[in-house]
Amino acid sequence: MAETAQMKVSDEVAIDITKMNKWYGAFHVLRDIDLTVYRGERIVICGPSGSGKSTLIRCINALEEHQQGSITVDGTLLSSDLKNIDKIRSEVGMCFQHFNLFPHLSILENLTLAPIWVRKTPKKEAEEVAMHYLEKVKIPDQANKYPGQLSGGQQQRVAIARSLCMKPRIMLFDEPTSALDPEMIKEVLDTMIELAEEGMTMLCVTHEMGFARQVANRVIFMDEGQIVEQNEPEAFFNNPQSPRTQLFLSQIL
Ligand code: ADP
Ligand code: MG
Repeated sequence: MAETAQMKVSDEVAIDITKMNKWYGAFHVLRDIDLTVYRGERIVICGPSGSGKSTLIRCINALEEHQQGSITVDGTLLSSDLKNIDKIRSEVGMCFQHFNLFPHLSILENLTLAPIWVRKTPKKEAEEVAMHYLEKVKIPDQANKYPGQLSGGQQQRVAIARSLCMKPRIMLFDEPTSALDPEMIKEVLDTMIELAEEGMTMLCVTHEMGFARQVANRVIFMDEGQIVEQNEPEAFFNNPQSPRTQLFLSQIL
């Protein structure tokens, strides 16, 4: 992908993680994570199942609590202070493997729920914003249907549009295509590529290495709760340094 002006990485820090450690009970799941994400970066996180990728992503918007070290998002320190957590969540959008749409609400209602109830946006305005993002993900015609009437790929694009309605400055993706049939993966990746081209700061856990090569400016490899290696895609794929990265890549490529 040709790097557009908007895709330039700035020197403004979006996320800063320092010496972060997390345990699930006695299990040390994240070990000394140091990660600085600059605005405009598109980071792909990969690594074996169980290496802590989801946990890391979930710590960033406080869906999981970390026990040591610090996480700062857009200058706000993530602490037990609920005000800070609210602020961070309002700037960070999240998209999971399972779309988590409300089955009993229409697509439009799914998109306007949080803007109306959390942001107190007037209904008409929330609906206009929702239609804007449904057009962006290319399914405005599905607005009045229910999630169960849409394909998996369409539902995932609704989930992305739903996040965008909250105007996030950072998007976190956790294997957004891994529950999809192959023919639907591309339409979701295309949506993510478009977001990247518009300059969205993105952290994506994904096994789509084609996407990583095309879109990422940095690929991070995690294993056993640690960041083992990171590099720009070209160097990461062609010249992995750690034996653990080499083994992983030999298994998936
Ligand atoms: P990944 O996303 O890389 O597959 P996860 O972050 O989901 O890895 O999980 C990392 C490790 O933490 C795994 O061993 C997993 O079993 C464990 N784990 C994940 N969630 C919990 C939890 N809520 N309680 C206890 N252990 C967990
Ligand atoms: Mg995971």
